[in-house]
Amino acid sequence: TNGLEDSEDIGREKNAKTKVTHNIVFVTSEAAPYSKTGGLADVCGSLPIALAARGHRVMVVSPKYINGTPADKKFANAVDLDRLIKVYCFGGVQEVGFFHEYRDGVDWVFVDHPSYHRPGNPYGDIHGAFGDNQFRFTLLCHAACEAPLVLPLGGFTYGEKCLFLVNDWHASLVPILLAAKYRPYGVYKDARSILVIHNLAHQGVEPATTYMNLGLPPEWYGAVEWVFPTWARKHALDTGQAVNLLKGAVVTADRLLTVSQGYSWEITTAEGGYGLNGLISSRRSVLNGITNGIDVAEWDPSSDEHIACHYSAENLNGKAQCKIALQKEVGLPIRPDCPLIGFIGRLDYQKGIDLIRSAIPEIMEDEVQFVMLGSGDPEFEDWMRATESAYKDKFRGWVGFNVPISHKITAGCDILLMPSRFEPCGLNQLYAMRYGTVPVVHDTGGLRDTVENFNPFVQEGHGEGTGWTFSPLTKESMLAALRNATRTYREHKPSWEGLMKRGMQRDYTWENAAIQYEQVFEWAFLDPP
Ligand code: ADP
Repeated sequence: TNGLEDSEDIGREKNAKTKVTHNIVFVTSEAAPYSKTGGLADVCGSLPIALAARGHRVMVVSPKYINGTPADKKFANAVDLDRLIKVYCFGGVQEVGFFHEYRDGVDWVFVDHPSYHRPGNPYGDIHGAFGDNQFRFTLLCHAACEAPLVLPLGGFTYGEKCLFLVNDWHASLVPILLAAKYRPYGVYKDARSILVIHNLAHQGVEPATTYMNLGLPPEWYGAVEWVFPTWARKHALDTGQAVNLLKGAVVTADRLLTVSQGYSWEITTAEGGYGLNGLISSRRSVLNGITNGIDVAEWDPSSDEHIACHYSAENLNGKAQCKIALQKEVGLPIRPDCPLIGFIGRLDYQKGIDLIRSAIPEIMEDEVQFVMLGSGDPEFEDWMRATESAYKDKFRGWVGFNVPISHKITAGCDILLMPSRFEPCGLNQLYAMRYGTVPVVHDTGGLRDTVENFNPFVQEGHGEGTGWTFSPLTKESMLAALRNATRTYREHKPSWEGLMKRGMQRDYTWENAAIQYEQVFEWAFLDPP
């Protein structure tokens, strides 16, 4: 759509020095390695570094989660800035502090408040989502708006002329605060905000009565007002009134971005728009999509510390060793020639786990092995354990969140299965391709943008493509794609090697994405807020 030039221009520009530099403030509920439940953390842990390397001044504001596990050590290098601010919200006043670590050219700023100190992940614990998440992320947003004004990082504040990159609903109050609380008083008149949508399914919807807790002036209610359709209301007297924070950011941010071009189109459709498609369509002229990069240092088969043997597109031998090591580690029979299929991800309806569950009896009829790593919905976790007992020689289900194992699976498998119902970008298929593991994915969103469907007949019989994309999202079409893949693996080694190498040789660097982000920054400053 708008703002981005074609990729040839991007390539030409790649080695040129950035001319305009910005003061950029990321606001996010998670940033790797400090906190992580999914792809959002990877983006907010890597893109800031790539932008800083291109000359921008970059700050990342996220909560300082303390959950009483060894993960708390990740904040060991963060120093208390000794700067408390008062946030007026939820009918009272809260004192919020800031910690800071300067690393890889980026100011990592951690917001400190007792509500971030509890067992669990950023959003919940074994009992489910925390009941006060709206409160916790309201604090984050107020603190993030103050940070550029009050924190003398490296001796100087970022100041008012900055660019806020607000990620998903947790940060969505930021552009609303800029419009409602700061600009009417002449502050942040030259700032811009970009809403980055990583997942539209979560919007921060709460009862309408919580509006008065957000610290916004009464006349701004319309910005976050949300009315449920009749069928979604709970009883006859329910008027369907709610507040929706993501909606507020959709209407107040200067630009809207998603993590792939494909997804930026999908969210304008009834199917992918989760009720916001009409509103997003009305802002189509400020909407765009940029595919995520990956951390190519962490995900590098030629130096990965987690895998049994290193390899590269030039020398693939080590991959066979990684497969044997994985089979050993998870206790599957050592069978170098048997196609090994992997799955990594949240056990969530979004990821199409139900489809895998329904197809498993048929998949297990074939000569294949299957390793799944994931955590999430307890029903699916139980199913994985039960499936492991039912197919001892063929199936392993590793319940949990385990980064080293995710690397071992990415390296050791031949095929990575991703039947996601929707996928804003998806990272595992990118990791897989970089490791010569061929993805079989549902033809949707970022999966469609990044996996090129295999065509064996072109390029004088050498074929092209990096994996299989299947559609529609049915058991039958998934099985057909999977069987195409396993047959190619078994019966046509040269085609398989071509698939592996084409995937491994692609450019996945964040620098590529950072250049496209810069174009959106320029575009954001073209219009007044
Ligand atoms: P999403 O953000 O929707 O969860 P992505 O594919 O964008 O999906 O990112 C998921 C990230 O989380 C990847 O880095 C993936 O490797 C990681 N991940 C997901 N589940 C697990 C797990 N059980 N163990 C280790 N890493 C995981």
